[in-house]
Amino acid sequence: MVGKLFVISGSSGVGKGTLLKEFLNRHENFKLSVSCTTRQPRIGEVDGTNYFFITNDEFDKHIKNNDFLEWAEFSGNRYGTQKSYVEKKLSEGKNIILEIDTKGALQIKSIIPNSVMIFILPPSFEELEARLRGRNTETEEAIQKRLQSVKSEIENSKYFDYKVVNDNLETALKKLENIMC
Ligand code: ADP
Ligand code: 5GP
Repeated sequence: MVGKLFVISGSSGVGKGTLLKEFLNRHENFKLSVSCTTRQPRIGEVDGTNYFFITNDEFDKHIKNNDFLEWAEFSGNRYGTQKSYVEKKLSEGKNIILEIDTKGALQIKSIIPNSVMIFILPPSFEELEARLRGRNTETEEAIQKRLQSVKSEIENSKYFDYKVVNDNLETALKKLENIMC
């Protein structure tokens, strides 16, 4: 039995993490892949749970060893999906969710064409900015950098199978459940 692969993308602050946390609470047969990143942990983030926080040298080694299913640079840091975890869980019949940026998502689509690609949209650009600021985790410089990626992310969204607007959280969750369950 082979599980299904779901890819969730969307601009920083749109609510991907919030939606997925609730989705995973409600659906035990889905697993979230924990990525490697070179960015610094935010307050409260736990190594091995939110990400594997690694150095640039370690990231280079993973690339050299072909350990990543995909990887991309986002907003000055690198992020990568571990091939071994995804392959193991899929072979066990588990449904895997990758919460990754649009560049990584497009790589996955070309390697695993039957993966289900879902793009999360904000109700408006203003609301996206308000959420990103309201989260209080980024410096002003990092917020500006993340907002600069929005245009290319929306441009890449045309390659996704589904688009879900995260306006009301519960409504967006229902839409995700309709697509994924
Ligand atoms: P992402 O993982 O996409 O970067 P987060 O899940 O961290 O985004 O959400 C960014 C902020 O927006 C958080 O403070 C979160 O509580 C808030 N948020 C998420 N979804 C909604 C929603 N539907 N309505 C209002 N605020 C939301
Ligand atoms: P953050 O720094 O806010 O946790 O994540 C920044 C961006 O990196 C988000 O768009 C998130 O989806 C993406 N991301 C997280 N893990 C990965 C990964 O393994 N690969 C890629 N390509 N992007 C990732």
